[in-house]
Amino acid sequence: MGMIMVNCPQTGRAIPTGIKSDRETFLRSIVFFGNTRCPICEANHNWFAREAWVDEPFVRTSDVLGAIPSC
Ligand SMILES: [Zn+2]
Repeated sequence: MGMIMVNCPQTGRAIPTGIKSDRETFLRSIVFFGNTRCPICEANHNWFAREAWVDEPFVRTSDVLGAIPSC
């Protein structure tokens, strides 16, 4: 499970939508869209699934650390 993130159209920064999903479920949701209150510009932004991604930091961190050779 990870937080679904979108880019704020005003600032270009990543903001959390407050919705949690796993990558497989999210990718199957073709027509999925939402409306999120932006913490940066304090406005509501409409977004579509094709603009969003699932943030799963714990998976990414372990992959990076495991890929570093010991020498
Ligand atoms: Zn915004």
